[in-house]
Parts: sequence; C-alpha cells; structure tokens
Amino acid sequence: MIRFAIALLLTFSVPVQNRGAEYNISYRLAMSHPASHLFEVTIDVQLPATERATYIDFQIPMWQPGRYSVADFAKNVQDFDARSGNIQLYWMKIDNQTWRVQRGTNGTVTVAYRMFGDDLSGTYAQLDVGHANYTGGELFMYVVGHKPDPLQLRIEPPSNWKVINGRTERPNQVEWRYPNYEIMIDNPTEIGPDWTLDEFKVQGKTDRVVVHSRGPEGGRRPSLVRDIQKIVKAETTMWGPPEFDSYTFMIHFAADDQSGDGMEHLTSTQIIQPGVLAERGSYDDAVRTAAHEFFHVWNVKRLRPIELGPWDWTRPAATRGLWIAEGFTQYYGVLMYHRAGFQNAEGFLNSLSNTIGTIENAPASKLMSAEASSMAASFTDAALHRQRTNLPNTSLSYYLKGELIALNLDLIIREKTAGRYSLDEVMRRAYEQFYLKSPNATYYLKGRGYTIEDFAGVVSEVAGTDMTDFFAKYVRGTDTLPYDQALRGVGLRLVKSPSNQPYTAGIVLDPEDPEGMRLGALRTGSPAERGGLQEGDVLTEIGGMSVSRENWRSILNRFKQGDRVPVSVRRFRETVQVSIQLDAPDIFIYRIEEDPGASAQAKALRSAWLN
Ligand SMILES: [Zn+2]
Ligand SMILES: [Zn+2]
Repeated sequence: MIRFAIALLLTFSVPVQNRGAEYNISYRLAMSHPASHLFEVTIDVQLPATERATYIDFQIPMWQPGRYSVADFAKNVQDFDARSGNIQLYWMKIDNQTWRVQRGTNGTVTVAYRMFGDDLSGTYAQLDVGHANYTGGELFMYVVGHKPDPLQLRIEPPSNWKVINGRTERPNQVEWRYPNYEIMIDNPTEIGPDWTLDEFKVQGKTDRVVVHSRGPEGGRRPSLVRDIQKIVKAETTMWGPPEFDSYTFMIHFAADDQSGDGMEHLTSTQIIQPGVLAERGSYDDAVRTAAHEFFHVWNVKRLRPIELGPWDWTRPAATRGLWIAEGFTQYYGVLMYHRAGFQNAEGFLNSLSNTIGTIENAPASKLMSAEASSMAASFTDAALHRQRTNLPNTSLSYYLKGELIALNLDLIIREKTAGRYSLDEVMRRAYEQFYLKSPNATYYLKGRGYTIEDFAGVVSEVAGTDMTDFFAKYVRGTDTLPYDQALRGVGLRLVKSPSNQPYTAGIVLDPEDPEGMRLGALRTGSPAERGGLQEGDVLTEIGGMSVSRENWRSILNRFKQGDRVPVSVRRFRETVQVSIQLDAPDIFIYRIEEDPGASAQAKALRSAWLN
C-alpha cells in the first residue's frame, strides 16, 4: 500500500530531467563471490544544493557501441536497493531499463545492485573463478540527464587479482576518473590473477599486449607481440602517430571453442579467440583481428558517423554509415595484414576475390543496399531471433559490401589521380577535417561526426571529380559494383565462372542444425521453392539417392540445367516427394587476375597498390 502511494507520487511529480548542475557520481565495483557470476555495483550520487529534483532515474543501456543488436542488459540486474545513509529510499521500475529512486532529504543517494555476467565477449561481462572481464555498459547504470557529468570508479578485486585496462597509468591502479559516462563504458577491463603484460613502442607511443590464456600458449606469446607490432607499424605509417600515449590489446584465448569477438575502443581493443594460443589458426586469427581493430583507433572511434556518439541508450542505433565504419575497416584490415608482410599479393587478391564471391552470390545482393544494410544492423549484428525471419534472403553484410566499396573507390581514385592519391588520402583528410579540426559538437568527444554526404564530399575532392553518381548507384542503390572499371585501372580483371558444383537449386541447410539435414530459409523464387520444398523440411533423398551434409551438393550436381530432379523430405513425420527443375547455374567463382593488355601506367599503379 505504501509502495503504491509512493509510486503515484514518483510517477506524477514533475520530472526534472534537463541537465542542471553537475552531480557528484562515483561507482564501486566488487566481486566477492566469483563463482556466483554476480558483479556488485554501487553508485553514490551527491546532488548539488540547488537541485530541486524529487527523484533520480538510473538507467542501464539497451545495447552498447560496436555491437548493434539490442542486448537489454537490464535482464541481468538483481537485488536493486536504494538508500540515503542508513535510510531506505523508495524506488520503482518505470520501464524495463529504468529504476526511479526518491531522493533523500540530505541530497545523497546510494544505489546498489548485482549484475549477473557469464559471457566472455566484447559486449557482455564475465565473472567466474578465473577472472572478471567487462566492457562497461552491460554493468553500469547511468543517471538520466547526467551522462555528461564526470565520474569516478573504484574497483575492489579479490585478493591477488590485478586490474588492467586501456587507461591504466600505474601498477596496482584500482581507481579511475572519467570525463563522462560514454568514456567510462568505453574502457574494457580485465581483473584476474594470471594475465600477462608485454609492451613495445611505435613512433613514441606505447602499445601493450595483455594476454589471458585459458589453455596452452606453446611459447608463442613473444612472436604474437612482435607480429602485432608489425600491424601497428603498418597502420601508423598510413595515419601518423595516434593522439594517445598508450594503447592496450586485451586478448583472450578462451579455450572453450565458442567465445569469439573483436571490439574496438578509444584506447584499447578486446579480442577473444575461441581456441588456444598454441594453435596456429587461433594465432593467425588474433593477428588478423588486431589488424582490423587497431584501424578502428581512427575509423569509427574518432572519425565517426554523426549518429555514433553520444548515444541514446533507450533505442537502437540508426546510422547509414556502417559500410564506412565497419566495411572500410574490413578492407583496411585485410590490406594492412598484407602491407605488414603476412600475406603476399596473391593471397591478398584471393581474399578479395572470395569476398566478391560472397557478396555477388548472396541472395540479397540486388535487394539490399549498403546504406540499408547499415540501418538493419540491430537485426543482424548477433541479434537473437525467436521469430522466424527471411533475413538470410534479404540482408547483406555491411562489413563485406563496405569492403568492396572501399576496394572500388581505392582503385578508382588511384586511376583518376594517376597514382597521386588513394583511399588512404580520403581517410586522412576526413579524420583531420571532422575529428581533429572541427569544433567539439557534443560533450562526448573531440570534433564532430560526419554525414554520408560529408564523407562523399571528401571522396570527390580527393578523386578530383564529382563522385555523387557512385554513391547513388553503389551505396544507396544496389547496382553491381564497377569491378571492371576499378580493376582495369590497375591492370587487373575479374573473371567470373560457374563453380565446379554450380547448382544449389536454392536449397539451404539450416545453420542452426549443423549435424542434420533440416532446411533453412530457401532462396526466394528458386527451383526448390517453386518445387514445393519449405523451411523445416528434412532432406532425405535427391534423385533417389540418400543424402548427407557432405554429399548432397555433389549428388544434385549430377543433374544439369532443365532436368527435373525428384527430391524426398520428411515433413510432419511423413515422407513427401517433390520434383524440382534446375535453373541456370546459381553459384559462381570470382577470380581477380592480371589483365594481359594492361598499360604501363596501370602496371605501375598496381605495384604501388600491392607493394
Ligand atoms: Zn581474463
Ligand atoms: Zn570492426
């Protein structure tokens, strides 16, 4: 009854949510029972004497930067409590991410809650008997209206556990000050007894490599550190020294065969490999991921689309620019891996050819533009779906489409400027113009975010010609990228040929059923769909022969265009037979190769690009 009466009071009192005078806000993070997976968060708020607000709203983000699906961190909050000194304060939930707390008479409010976390990833937190690892937004509530206020954080680790993050300045540091909430949650932190620290310097900046291995390292850590140094050198050569004093690669070898991620931050990255450092594949993946993530130091963390910071954590991000933020980073990650000497020209061109194949063979290659792909990120970036979707047919990766837009622009700029400029110059000028030299547009960070039109303007300026048409056709539109024009400029050409198993008939096995033969989302309008197969059917026979995951493609490809193929499936516990008629080949191989008629200038541009 009392709670009900107070609830009405809290609901109907006049909200004072416009940012007034700064609050004094400090956080404590404890973890007294690691095996429980429960982080203990305490937030002390001291209101200024002039503050008239009758309540304070504490809110936990719905998602956090870099992973654009909705995570709803609120679902892991428990044991919420609010006090002023020893006096219990009334509080209520007003929506699924907001706790409204009545203010105390003396102007102090302390809230405490526990947050469950047992996922090792760049988005969620993990506390277990071996370590604690978090990013920020999945643990820390903010005071509504006071995200711009400076904050303090104190971490209370279990005895003999040490704390490190990308803003650690001295040994055994457990306290940090942050200029605002967005900076605080951009600082992933590792707390544990057995992580290691290595350091090197490039152009006067310190780079640290923190490794927490949960399996054998095989003596590979020194060479991993040396290889990451090669990446840092290659990228610093392009951009010039970054503006920070130190940067931290925080790398986990999870040894659980499932956790994997790479996430960019202002002065650090979290890289999580599912395997162990002793394995060659895990090692190589960690270096490739480092090449991608370190490029984000400039592209996305500082040079950023206008919608990416500061953020409204009550609704998903909506930016048209992820094909630049992620896609161009994808292109440069591959290019820098090559420039740093890990892959020869042939390997680099093969990697690009494979990406072209993935995009051009995708069902959505003519349906979804790069901009639309970016706007769909909250549905596609590791989002979970209980409701069935047709996204496998309708969505395209902004990473890979963006990588190919970058490739085309890079080569076209080289050709149009006779090798004077490349996409590198676009990136450097945009960084200078929007980040370094623009006045601060918000409390969040230096400079301002760019619009797509801003970015297109820099491309045209560097190319020395109006590129508006390129953006209309290939970025907002779904026209096939001008590979021929772009590659010809550097003495290369794209060869398209049917795959040696060119027919799929639109059959797609469900990736959620990795052992079985259940069908996933069939290609829209494909022979399989026209013949009457549907998602959920379990494929048993093609052409009278029983099929497995290993042989169904080869059995199907014994038939040719125009043939009618009998197919059997299990559906609702019965066997159903249909007949499907094969169309033209639907899977093609793309290969970039030397153009025998290349001009001397094209050859020179090619060697400038590749060497
Ligand atoms: Zn760890
Ligand atoms: Zn990225």
